[in-house]
Amino acid sequence: MKIPFVDLKSQYQSIKTEIDQAISTVISETSFIGGFHVNNFEKEFEKKYGVSHCISCANGTDSLYIIMKMLGIGPGDEVITVANSWISTSETISQTGATPVFVDCEHNYYTINVNEIETKITPKTKAIIPVHLYGQMCDMDTLVNISKKHSIFLIEDCAQSHFSKYKNVKAGLHGHAASFSFYPGKNLGAYGDAGAIITNNENFAESFKMFARHGALIKHKHLIEGINSRMDGLQAAILSVKLRKIENWTKQRQENAKKLTSALNGIENIKTPIIRENSEHSFHLYVIQAENRDGLAEFLKSREIEVAIHYPTPLPLLPAYEKYKYKSEDFPVASKLSKHILSLPLYPELSEDAINYIADSIKEFYSVI
Ligand SMILES: *Cc1c(COP(=O)(O)O)cnc(C)c1O
Repeated sequence: MKIPFVDLKSQYQSIKTEIDQAISTVISETSFIGGFHVNNFEKEFEKKYGVSHCISCANGTDSLYIIMKMLGIGPGDEVITVANSWISTSETISQTGATPVFVDCEHNYYTINVNEIETKITPKTKAIIPVHLYGQMCDMDTLVNISKKHSIFLIEDCAQSHFSKYKNVKAGLHGHAASFSFYPGKNLGAYGDAGAIITNNENFAESFKMFARHGALIKHKHLIEGINSRMDGLQAAILSVKLRKIENWTKQRQENAKKLTSALNGIENIKTPIIRENSEHSFHLYVIQAENRDGLAEFLKSREIEVAIHYPTPLPLLPAYEKYKYKSEDFPVASKLSKHILSLPLYPELSEDAINYIADSIKEFYSVI
């Protein structure tokens, strides 16, 4: 049995009629940039997510950059984020001219260790960017408290956590603003690059939109210099179709994760995902910790099960951050995890047979059966 890591083809087959229709409508209307479909997607996302403002943009990296620029973050400032994430989270901090300050992650949940944040706060700290990694919610009560106590912005990176919930409140609704990616492989994925920002603050929303549209909310009235970061009409129309399915897909991800966890039960050599109390994990990724991870990965590949590592190197230890001279001892948990984490295939369309095949193959590797 061949099991791809993501299976966008079978998802497309299940919604082909609606997607093809949406694409042909956009083309026949030549509604390529901005216009009805983009505005419509923003409105639909606001409604479904329960937020006052959704500002679409070109991708989930720009969205982080736009938020920080418009919150006034720049040279001389520090922004706290987590050692285990995709580089967008930290590279956008540097792009504003600010300095990324990394905090280690938690061993069980993989998200930022909130107990270490206050030791890294200085008078220069302007914001914290927690990442709800793999779809797992961060400890939002503590993060909101820290943000209030120190008067620093809380910006949620929700690229992997569409519709995750903490105490019944969706990811992105706890902080001052939140960033989403609609990269094709994300839980809500476009057919190219796309992203969005959400916020309940009207003034922030206006400034984000203005900055993303060359500094102008009204054509030719450029109040500042901005950037060009727009969602295109095709992506918006495709995302509107998928938005109608996302809650169902999320449920299927959660059910499949439950099935996979119970199929893997009893294997001492691995640790299956632990979901934070009072929260809903959206399972963008199903990540285990494994003994002899590289051996297991090779074995699964030989069984035609595609796996991946998110991420093989903690951000501060990448060559990109060499100048800060971090050592792996500075981030003991992230460093240790990077040698043991393994992402298994997990998506709404994953069949029961596939789940059992993955579990049996892992058992076979560890000679449990
Ligand atoms: C995917 C991702 C991004 C960036 O999104 P793009 O749309 O690819 O620019 C940012 N942060 C995290 C945590 C991501 O996983």
